[in-house]
Amino acid sequence: MVYTDTRDKSVKADFKTAVLNGMNASTGGLYIPTSFPKINKSYIDRTPEPSFREIAFEMAKPYVEGEIPDSDLDAIIQDAYPFMPQVVPIDKVTYVLELFHGPTCAFKDFGARFMARVMSYFNRSENDNLHILVATSGDTGSAVGSAFHNVPGIDVTILYPDGKISPLQEKQLSTFDGNVRALKVKGNFDDCQKLVKTAFTDKDLRNKFRLSSANSINISRLLPQSFYYMYSALVVKNRIPQDSKIDTPAIIAVVPSGNFGNLTSGLIAYEMGAPITGFLAATNSNHTIPDWIATGNYKARDSVATLSNAMDVGAPSNYERIAAMYSLEQVRQLFASYWTDDAGTLEAIKRCNEKTGYVIDPHGAVAWKAWDEMRRSGMKDLVAGAKGDINKPGMTANIPSWASEVTDGKAVGIVLETAHPAKFGQTVQNAINRSPSMPDRLERVMNLEDHAIPMEKDYESFKDWLTSNL
Ligand SMILES: *Cc1c(COP(=O)(O)O)cnc(C)c1O
Repeated sequence: MVYTDTRDKSVKADFKTAVLNGMNASTGGLYIPTSFPKINKSYIDRTPEPSFREIAFEMAKPYVEGEIPDSDLDAIIQDAYPFMPQVVPIDKVTYVLELFHGPTCAFKDFGARFMARVMSYFNRSENDNLHILVATSGDTGSAVGSAFHNVPGIDVTILYPDGKISPLQEKQLSTFDGNVRALKVKGNFDDCQKLVKTAFTDKDLRNKFRLSSANSINISRLLPQSFYYMYSALVVKNRIPQDSKIDTPAIIAVVPSGNFGNLTSGLIAYEMGAPITGFLAATNSNHTIPDWIATGNYKARDSVATLSNAMDVGAPSNYERIAAMYSLEQVRQLFASYWTDDAGTLEAIKRCNEKTGYVIDPHGAVAWKAWDEMRRSGMKDLVAGAKGDINKPGMTANIPSWASEVTDGKAVGIVLETAHPAKFGQTVQNAINRSPSMPDRLERVMNLEDHAIPMEKDYESFKDWLTSNL
């Protein structure tokens, strides 16, 4: 596969370059495949549907062709995914896609574990370790740390702001041993990020060590997230005849979004032929993308803190990829979009539980609410001419090409549940008056001893530490 750049279409790169560079430093653009090959139709029509790992292999193959042979790709996938997404029906037309069955209980495990193994693969013939530096304000650190733990040829240093992340998050990223270390920095997240950025531009350090980042813009994190869209759409397609008896239903993927990486992965699956009709993009009060869809003006802004904090992004980095793949008019045909505030999020956790019995986390709740409102009255109102006020929670005014499927009752929703509710236990408890059950793997990590290393926020202290410890 040839990869190009969102800012300069004359750029041509192979997969290895795109993965190891992360972004294109000379343009500031993001790597993107030049085509999205369609999956064989016989595959999509198979009943029962192929397994998750089979789908993962088929979908990854064209993107690594010529660089990773089939047998090695298969080994990477088997090793990355000892767990699976789960499709859970909660009413006749609503399926929750649980993406939290990986080690850190959040959907980022799907992307991070594939990226870690691909990086290790491309580093296999080097004598020196590749050193990953990552600054985190919470969740990314644990997904990246866990994904690289014990992966050969790579070590990871995680920087987080001391005292500014939740106790569970701190345990999740500071209790690794071996190749994953955590530094608790006496400062805030911006200080952590500054230390990492300074290290990347420090020639002296770069001459001594091979440094790399593992952030969410890496194409090797986006591609594997497309696997679960294809898988869940095929599972749902095969179930609908029993569940809701709708003839040729429209499948709508409902995606709780921050940086819009997850949604971009959905677009990749759509282009590859997943039986998905459209997308419902759901955000919290950080509604930069809904506003863009509504007004046509993309205006990045500072983020505001919300209960679904992994979606607190005011300048979504994957806007660039979406705008490189589609015109605004195409986006308005393909997406409905919606946002809600914290009061709406709490209400959604409560109502979802009352109506369906399902305990949903604050991120998934934003998506569930978007779907619930759209299918009950939101789309009808839009079609009837409601304008949609972008300053108030609710749907934006664009009418996607599939609107009549919703108003005719011929649509089903796949609501992506991106984190286990126990990771946000207090918020869930506030909404439903009981705490969600705690999975064993979270319980276990709470009892581990942490090995975080205290670090000052000045660059010299950090550099000294790197020089004597890498
Ligand atoms: C990162 C994250 C999101 C947002 O995903 P994007 O790809 O940034 O849109 C949503 N929910 C949870 C739990 C997350 O960790």
